[in-house]
Amino acid sequence: MRAVITGGAGFLGSHLCELMLEKGWDVLCLDNLVTGNESNVSHLISHPRFRFAHQDVSRYIEVQGPVEAVLHFASPASPPDYLKFPIQTLKVGALGTHNTLGLALAKKAKFFLASTSECYGDPQVSPQPETYWGHVNPVGPRGVYDEAKRYAEAMTMAYHRYHGLDTRIVRIFNTYGPRMRLNDGRALPNFLYQALSGEPITVYGDGKQTRSFCYVSDLLAGIYKLLESNEHEPTNIGNPQEITILEFAERVRALVGANVPINFHPLPQDDPKQRCPDISKARRILGWEPKIPLEQGLRLTYEYFRQRLAQAGQSK
Ligand code: UDP
Repeated sequence: MRAVITGGAGFLGSHLCELMLEKGWDVLCLDNLVTGNESNVSHLISHPRFRFAHQDVSRYIEVQGPVEAVLHFASPASPPDYLKFPIQTLKVGALGTHNTLGLALAKKAKFFLASTSECYGDPQVSPQPETYWGHVNPVGPRGVYDEAKRYAEAMTMAYHRYHGLDTRIVRIFNTYGPRMRLNDGRALPNFLYQALSGEPITVYGDGKQTRSFCYVSDLLAGIYKLLESNEHEPTNIGNPQEITILEFAERVRALVGANVPINFHPLPQDDPKQRCPDISKARRILGWEPKIPLEQGLRLTYEYFRQRLAQAGQSK
């Protein structure tokens, strides 16, 4: 069994490559390295069932030989990244999804779309069930990501309904863990990096907005169960433990033991006020729920960041 994983050199994609190899699959990892990094998969390069190809999936994709699954994980995913690459973000969600669906259809493979809780925008319903249609500003700065992913979902369902393609859609909520980029710009990498380097922690707005953070191994376990299921409609995977960003910053500061101030900065436009997955569907149809408590996941991620910063310091 052979899987094509787009965005395979990214944070989630690289963990997915590892998991698929562990489950016995051959893996072809495609990435244009706009936000991904080859170092995320360098430990897999010598694996006999792993291959990496530098490719932009917004352009036509040609893959030789049989393929049983196409998992489309390519996209900038951090708000500063998709603000920096707005056109690429729209293209990989639209053209990239079309190309990867076309590849799956040609190969008679299963298709798996990495979608996002951003489909719910700044939600007026909390926690968010899959049946909620969302509250998205299509022309705001986040619209490039939100609308690309909403289009990707619509396109995936069209291939499922029109072509009978065997598809899955996961809506991924905030996820964290090793291999997030130090300068990725999201809350956790920022807070850890700042606390570790003795800089003030930057909280946007009053910090009362909420998020729910899922540790990467929990997310991957849910994704694999969804891949093996027969569910075609979107399914939320995330951790329902909701926390304010200010409390999150305080927890990170305490974990690092850093005596740094918390500074408040303007809230970015359209920043969702709350975000929390309703995971009753995943519990019911997949028998899945997250297992790693925030405390433990934060410690594991802290360890990774500490090592990365030490390496960066040595190479200077
Ligand atoms: N945030 C923050 N300080 C930072 C980075 C992010 O207060 O240095 C806030 C951001 O405004 C948002 C939350 O933390 O309310 C989560 O942001 P993130 O970029 O991690 O992802 P999002 O959930 O918004 O996609």
